Amino acid sequence: MKALAVAGLDVRYGTIPALKSISFHVNEGEIVAFLGANGAGKTTTQQTISGLVRPTSGTITYRGKPISGRPAHELISEGICHVPEGRHVFPRMSVLENLQMGAYRFRLVDTAAIEHVFELFPRLAERKHQLAGTLSGGEQQMLAIGRALMGRPSLLLLDEPSMGLAPLVVQDIFSIIEQINAEGVTVLLVEQNAAQALSIADRAYVLENGCIALEGTGRELLADSRIREVYLGES
Ligand code: ATP
Repeated sequence: MKALAVAGLDVRYGTIPALKSISFHVNEGEIVAFLGANGAGKTTTQQTISGLVRPTSGTITYRGKPISGRPAHELISEGICHVPEGRHVFPRMSVLENLQMGAYRFRLVDTAAIEHVFELFPRLAERKHQLAGTLSGGEQQMLAIGRALMGRPSLLLLDEPSMGLAPLVVQDIFSIIEQINAEGVTVLLVEQNAAQALSIADRAYVLENGCIALEGTGRELLADSRIREVYLGES
């Protein structure tokens, strides 16, 4: 069953088109990856779904409801939570306070959700009183994901979660994404790290200059000669 359906989505920044009538969908329970070169429109796609950018035209439907053009704070209540590129944790707040900020839509302190985040990320539990700005890059990424989970998402949008992280930390992050997905959260993942993304994705789309150039299952795209050459650095 389709969770997210996007049809004919156009986004412009001033007169410059960033997305040119793209259509795609994400099924309930899937991990779907978006690949593409810098500037292809991956971040814009996620920001439009999460309500940070308004589309010029097109429709976005989540669980049967039209959501196109609705602001981000309303979409969180629909279960759509976004972990933006660059993490953006609150540096002068502790790990625990950052997590509590993620649950602002619930009036009560959600201790069960905090416990769940600490089970997924024991490193955060060990550092719960540490200021977020002093965490390592990998720990900040874990915190950004944990903070989004505090909103109890049904759809998690992850923008470049592996950016700037050491290979071992990247492995950790990807296995946690798989675990979150196995617990029932649908995932839309934007990644430069094509090999890792395709290895966990059920399906993937390749964006080029604001258009969808290729789509397929993770396995199909991993075996595609063009993908291997352009995104996996093989000749
Ligand atoms: P990257 O991997 O470098 O983050 P991307 O695939 O995520 O790239 P976007 O960030 O979505 O690509 O950018 C798509 C296009 O829109 C680019 O040409 C970019 O310069 C342009 N763009 C993005 N944000 C803005 C903005 N706020 N104002 C004007 N142009 C923008």
